[in-house]
Amino acid sequence: MTEQKQELKINNSLTGEKEVFKPLNDGFVGLYVCGPTVYSHVHLGNCRTFISFDMVYRYLVHLGYKVRYVRNITDAGHLENDAEEGEDKIAKKARLEQLEPMEVVQQYTLNFHEILDRFNNKPPNIEPTATGHIIEQIEMVKAIMEKGLAYESNGSVYFDVEKYNENGDYGILSKRKIEDLISGTRSLDGQDEKRSPLDFALWKNAKPEHIMKWPSPWGVGFPGWHLECSAMSTKYLGEQFDIHGGGMDLKFPHHECEIAQGTAATGKKPVRYWMHANMLTLNGKKMSKSTGNTLLPEELFSGNNEVIGKAYHPIVVRFFMMQAHYASTLDFSAEALDAAQKGFTRLMDAVEKLENLPVSDTSSANVDGLISNCYNAMNDDFNTPILIAHLFDAAKLIQQVSNGKATLTKSDKEKLSESINAFVFDILGLKAISSNNNEDESLETVMELVLEMRNKARANKDWDTADAIRDKLAEAKITVKDSKEGATWSKD
Ligand code: AMP
Ligand code: ZN
Repeated sequence: MTEQKQELKINNSLTGEKEVFKPLNDGFVGLYVCGPTVYSHVHLGNCRTFISFDMVYRYLVHLGYKVRYVRNITDAGHLENDAEEGEDKIAKKARLEQLEPMEVVQQYTLNFHEILDRFNNKPPNIEPTATGHIIEQIEMVKAIMEKGLAYESNGSVYFDVEKYNENGDYGILSKRKIEDLISGTRSLDGQDEKRSPLDFALWKNAKPEHIMKWPSPWGVGFPGWHLECSAMSTKYLGEQFDIHGGGMDLKFPHHECEIAQGTAATGKKPVRYWMHANMLTLNGKKMSKSTGNTLLPEELFSGNNEVIGKAYHPIVVRFFMMQAHYASTLDFSAEALDAAQKGFTRLMDAVEKLENLPVSDTSSANVDGLISNCYNAMNDDFNTPILIAHLFDAAKLIQQVSNGKATLTKSDKEKLSESINAFVFDILGLKAISSNNNEDESLETVMELVLEMRNKARANKDWDTADAIRDKLAEAKITVKDSKEGATWSKD
């Protein structure tokens, strides 16, 4: 792996260049990914970003790095519309549903974990919460104030963007010029607490009705959204670390502010490589909670949705996502998912055949070349679509060997088998699924039996039993649909 390790190139959003990846500490990689704000169900767009970074994490581990993967949970401080004023997203949901804010947090954190698990994502090594790191955030505000780069106003503390920019480079990540930013914002009305409209909150004074608040040197309040990631990444990965990721829409202002905060507090640039996953679109528009243009993973797995109208296995959806480069946009449609389903089946058929391939004295194919093509694709900024194209070359070869149209030596067969398994399962994170598209094979066996019994009841015109079975299954979130061809089922 040493050789492969040195070849990895990452497209660094900070420089806009593909750079050879060199971690700050030999053999160790610090990876931080912005996590969800847990006030509603994660949608498929959110999932795409988290699946992209799961693949990045998996590949770094495959290359032999010891990776500390930190992904936070935003459970306070994220205000509506990502704005500087307004209600906390979690507090608002709690108010509307008459719940404790921490009940909202718990409910959607569990949902987030369950969904990512169904997509076969690996959990991060540390999953810190904003509310669990209030002290660290207060300390960071103090450090920035000590440098003279933040000021207090009416119990809130703001980052002084223009002062920072006398020596700093606010706009470096999103390639925005401070002059343009200033002219693009409304001017302050004199009542404003801020010195400049560009200044952003590090700490906000809490109004009496605000529920989630903590004491601080500036009075009772809560941290600004951008601060939590700076405080937690510094705590767990150090003042400077290797890779910071998130969706493209976080580049500005969230990540731009993180760079400014980290640099102001420590005098060092916090991150070496910034990576941004591109947006999943639906009907050509960004999938987003705020516009309602969303599809929930649960709705797609069960088929209970009007957008696609059919059920797809989470692993097929994952494969579909892997067929696009993480930095390209990707549009969601039934046709694209059907194509992914076919491709996935073809690939898995080949993987299944690998074990029992016949061996010969000579190889008619260049297995080393094929494997290095796969590595070259991944080393070229995690290019999974090109990797998958090479895996289809391998699938074709496997088919030919199994039909006697090509040959492999024992050692080539072993090499091929080891590499294909690593790329398909360890790196792309796929897994074999049952033909009925359901995740649990034992459930499938049981369901066959249950539906057979229900069919018998129907044949005997025992409608009470047939309906009781259907209703009980519905309680267990299993939907049965009757059609001329017989009954089918799907699980939410
Ligand atoms: P949020 O919970 O809204 O802060 O989002 C969690 C993550 O999902 C962030 O990294 C966002 O950038 C990302 N995200 C939001 N919408 C999409 C989308 N349509 N496609 C891909 N990623 C998204
Ligand atoms: Zn963040």
